[in-house]
Amino acid sequence: MQVIDTIDELVNYRNALSGVVGVVPTMGHLHQGHLTLIEQSQRHCDVTVLTIFVNPAQFNNPQDLEHYPRTLAKDLEMAELQGVDIVFTPNADMMYPDGYTYQLHEQSLSNDMEGASRPGHFAGVLTIVLKLFNLIKADKAFFGEKDYQQLQLVQGMAKALFLQTEVIGCPIVREPSGLAMSSRNSRLSAPERILASKLYEAMRTSATTDEAKTKLTELGFKVDYIIDKGGRRFAAAFLGQVRLIDNIPLSDLTL
Ligand code: AMP
Repeated sequence: MQVIDTIDELVNYRNALSGVVGVVPTMGHLHQGHLTLIEQSQRHCDVTVLTIFVNPAQFNNPQDLEHYPRTLAKDLEMAELQGVDIVFTPNADMMYPDGYTYQLHEQSLSNDMEGASRPGHFAGVLTIVLKLFNLIKADKAFFGEKDYQQLQLVQGMAKALFLQTEVIGCPIVREPSGLAMSSRNSRLSAPERILASKLYEAMRTSATTDEAKTKLTELGFKVDYIIDKGGRRFAAAFLGQVRLIDNIPLSDLTL
């Protein structure tokens, strides 16, 4: 496994690659959800590039950025075990030589849900993903349905800007409790982690979003939004300082 932490080295290495290249962009603190994206890339591509970068531009909350779990040594071990070919671990200075004065803004879907709750979040996401796509020139990129709105926006960006990278969505990986895996889950206390699985349960077992919101509020969640849209149910809620998001197809409701 090649670990690359400069842009020049990445570009040189990339230009020497042949075959179908897949990329899996992440912010690290890897879990089974990330590993499943890597497996999908390995299934469909000859070479898999994993990127690990906690992207400051997509954090609207400085506390969230400060406390975001960073476990690079462990991540590299997991990537190696998983058979990743290349890991790209840039820093913010090299990814933003312009000081983030150039930004990609989407003006419609990104105003809703996560975009409404987290001003600037999607501009940060789209800008970094475009930069990574330009550097890695992957044939395929793998994103999780866990961040469903992000997946839709990245797919929309690829189409709108005629990018040569095909964006492929992969299903949400959950804990046995139903809790959607997330790097932020490690910031939950033990009791919070047990409670956190109720987010998925309430989403699945409530006939309406109002009913789910009432259940979650009674359990101690601070619900940011819960919305049915386009055949799916989307929710974001705080447990203590940790903000959880999830989504399910409405066909998965068990009333
Ligand atoms: P992150 O490191 O949280 O930015 O996530 C990197 C990629 O992994 C994104 O495409 C996420 O949607 C995806 N991902 C995160 N958690 C999960 C999960 N539980 N199941 C599937 N994909 C996930």
